[in-house]
Amino acid sequence: MNINSLGILYIVATPIGNLGDITFRAIETLKSVHCIVAEDTRHSQPLLQHYGIKTPLFALHEHNERERTAALLDRLKQGESIALISDAGTPLISDPGYYLVREARVAGIKVMPLPGPCAAIAALSVAGLPTDKFTFEGFLPAKSGARLQCLEKLRHESRTIIFYEAPHRIMDLLLAMQQVFGDDRQVVLAREITKLFETIKSDALGQLIPWVLADANQQRGEFVVIVAGLQTVSDDMEQEMQRILQILLADLPLKQAVELASKITGQKKNDVYELALRLKNT
Ligand code: SAM
Repeated sequence: MNINSLGILYIVATPIGNLGDITFRAIETLKSVHCIVAEDTRHSQPLLQHYGIKTPLFALHEHNERERTAALLDRLKQGESIALISDAGTPLISDPGYYLVREARVAGIKVMPLPGPCAAIAALSVAGLPTDKFTFEGFLPAKSGARLQCLEKLRHESRTIIFYEAPHRIMDLLLAMQQVFGDDRQVVLAREITKLFETIKSDALGQLIPWVLADANQQRGEFVVIVAGLQTVSDDMEQEMQRILQILLADLPLKQAVELASKITGQKKNDVYELALRLKNT
């Protein structure tokens, strides 16, 4: 029990497919708390049975979270400890629990994380895309207009972008991404992570889409979609392009100078052209 005699609310990560992906501490905690609140009790039953966990189980999902929170806080205030789990992975990450955690913290109750699997982080760790900065977008809206609007806002995002998607919408999402990010943008499709048909496919959207379309199996299961951020020219390269362009522009017409500078630096003609225009205008 907590020193101030309040109970502790444990936020416990559970496997995202492979039952072995649970920590010793998670199992011990799930066995020792007064009750476990789960997103879907039927879904969590096999995991609890597998590890011989007999703790009483209650449901906490998006439709009853607000109404159940008061009763759970009362139990915590009386010194009982509670563990929150979701159907898979880390609770609150595109899963219920935010309201309960917020209210518990407001009430001065200790909330402890028991870290473990999270599909977004597992996918990112094998994507081969920059991980120093990334943004997690979760599920985009199901309606095509709203989805496109969200993607438009991310058109110039330079950080790696992580999405969750359901199998029946995966093709719509990839096609909308192609419309906004273009054929050349690198995307990693992480399907069924830690499960039998785990597939991690990395390719430019223009190649990835026909590959997914050609095999109906690649449209089944659970998906994390990771999009490379927009690559912009580094400051050093911009300085070098500027130096080369200034020499060429002194003797050549703009179009020819841009073509040569693009060949010399290996940078896209459009980027070199934009810089050349800026140089001409200053
Ligand atoms: N809380 C979970 C977590 O920590 O990753 C996410 C829950 S969210 C409701 C479920 C979504 O996560 C799925 O639709 C899918 O996008 C992604 N996901 C969960 N498990 C996955 C897996 N094994 N492989 C790929 N994606 C997965």
